[in-house]
Amino acid sequence: MIKQYIAKGKKYFKYLSLLNHPSNQGFCSICNKETLFVEYGSGLRDQYKCIKCNSIPRHRALIDTIKLFVPNYRQILIHESSPGSRSSDYLKKECQNYSCSQYFPDITPGEIHRGFRCENLENLTFSDGSFDLFITQDVFEHILHPDKAFKEIARVLKPGGMHIFTMSWYPELQHSRQRATIENGEIKYLEKAVYHGNPISDRGSLVTYDWGADFVDYVYKHSGMSTTIYLHIDRSLGLDARHLQVFISRKCYE
Ligand SMILES: [Zn+2]
Repeated sequence: MIKQYIAKGKKYFKYLSLLNHPSNQGFCSICNKETLFVEYGSGLRDQYKCIKCNSIPRHRALIDTIKLFVPNYRQILIHESSPGSRSSDYLKKECQNYSCSQYFPDITPGEIHRGFRCENLENLTFSDGSFDLFITQDVFEHILHPDKAFKEIARVLKPGGMHIFTMSWYPELQHSRQRATIENGEIKYLEKAVYHGNPISDRGSLVTYDWGADFVDYVYKHSGMSTTIYLHIDRSLGLDARHLQVFISRKCYE
C-alpha cells in the first residue's frame, strides 16, 4: 500500500522508511480525507497513525463519536479541558464556539497563563449551564478528586448537555482502584506510582485511578449523569486499539 504512495511523486519519498510497516487504506475523520493508516510500531494505541495528519486511534474515535452523537457540534458551545491532540486541533478549527483551558497548579483559576485560561476541573469558575458539550481526553485517570470533577462538569453543562471523553478503562476490574490520594497537600501512594505522558509537563501525569466495571455507577452517583460507553472498531476508519472506548455522559433535562 505504501508503495502506491511513493509512486505518486517526490513528496511521498519520506514514506520509504515505512515500506515494511503494516498499513491499510481508509478514511480519516480528522483530516476528512482518504488516507493510509500505518502501524509505526507495535502497540496500536499510540502507533497506528494516519499518514496525513499523524492522528492516533483515540483521537479519531473521539471525533467519530462526536460526529455521530452530536451532529450539530460545529454550532454549539464546547469546552475542552486539557487540550493537546490532533482531535483538539480539529475541534478548534471546525467549531466556532470552542474554548479550552489547562490546569496550572500555581495560577489562579480564571487567569490566562501561557495562552490558556487556567481552570481546575474540581472547582471550575464557569457559571451553571455554560456549555452544550464538555470534552476531556485521557484526563480522568489523573484526577485526585474525580467525584468533584464529574459534579462540576454536570454543573457547567446545560440540561441535555454531554460530557464526551476518553480514558483508560479496565472492564475486567470489577471495582475501580484508587492508586493515589492527597493528604495535607502531600500525595499518598496507595499503589505503585504510574505516570503517563503530559503535553504541558515533563514530569508526566500520575495515574490516580484504574477505572473498572463500576465506572458508570461512580459517574451517576456523583453527578447524576448517565453514561453510554461507545466502542467502534473499524480499520477502514483507522479505529483499532486497546482502550478505544468513548464515554458519553448526559445531563438530564430538569
Ligand atoms: Zn488524518
